[in-house]
Amino acid sequence: MKKTLITGAAGFLGSHLCDRFIAEGHHVVAMDNLITGDLKNLEHLFHLDRFEFHHHDVTKFVHVPGKVDNILHFASPASPIDYLKIPIQTLKVGALGTHNLLGLAKEKNARFMIASTSEIYGDPLVHPQTEEYYGNVNTIGPRGVYDEAKRFQESITMAYHRFHGLDTRIVRIFNTYGPRMRLNDGRVIPAFMGQALRGEDLTVFGDGSQTRSFCFVEDEIEGIYRLLMSDYTLPMNIGNPHEITIKDFAEEIIKLTGTDQKIIYKPLPKDDPMQRQPDISKAKEILGWEPKVGRAEGMRKTFDYFKTLSREELEKTEHRDFSDRNKK
Ligand code: UDP
Repeated sequence: MKKTLITGAAGFLGSHLCDRFIAEGHHVVAMDNLITGDLKNLEHLFHLDRFEFHHHDVTKFVHVPGKVDNILHFASPASPIDYLKIPIQTLKVGALGTHNLLGLAKEKNARFMIASTSEIYGDPLVHPQTEEYYGNVNTIGPRGVYDEAKRFQESITMAYHRFHGLDTRIVRIFNTYGPRMRLNDGRVIPAFMGQALRGEDLTVFGDGSQTRSFCFVEDEIEGIYRLLMSDYTLPMNIGNPHEITIKDFAEEIIKLTGTDQKIIYKPLPKDDPMQRQPDISKAKEILGWEPKVGRAEGMRKTFDYFKTLSREELEKTEHRDFSDRNKK
């Protein structure tokens, strides 16, 4: 039986990956420090013999007894407001955490995958973004802690690949959404859906002309799985190229949720990318992958999930003041 270590396992993507690897018959070793993850996302797997959870911070030495076939390093805060709240941890998990896990992968001769990101491209000057584009990142801006950690993560992964011959994969993940996103994580989909459910106005940052391209989690996981199983070792974009402005997106959410609230405008956070759309030619050609779930269907499923949350969860205010995103 294959044994797969997944870090960030209690998070949004991590927990969906655990489901996928369990479904593929693997023994899954799930690891998370639970800073932004939530054990609720994994509760349904705890009864399985093939599933184990370790409450561990991967910036500290990581030990897994016995063989390990695959390591997927998905631990990291992933929301811009989290980077502001925990900037040092964000840098450490991308840098020190990756180094520890590469060491483990080398020791175990395991295949190693990192969750890289469209943030590699910063506020992109090339559109749509191909994997060859080097990016436009402000190293010292508020998002720099995430962007540079991820860029370092790619560099050290390629160094282990070239120098030690480690079998590595780099997936560049674009905006992904679906059930198990944290309602209060500040990202645009949970923010808008939470606002609609609480009967608040939808907060569009800037004039809403900035664009994003949203991928439903089922499609994202399929792309990630196929990349891991392939023999492609250079970075690959996995995302949905269907692009929309944030203002049009807010209007879609108003229609979908049936809320009678309106859009209100707040200042655009510093370094918020003006456009983002993946070029997925490589994924299509090499993996035979492209997204299948349209936004209407994916958003409906996501909204159905948020509707199941309790009033108490809905009212958590931790991240509801977004003004701190605008600090220099
Ligand atoms: N955004 C918004 N209102 C919100 C939250 C986010 O208009 O309440 C905007 C944000 O400024 C950005 C886009 O939505 O332009 C996507 O933001 P998110 O934090 O989801 O992810 P990003 O792609 O910026 O990492």
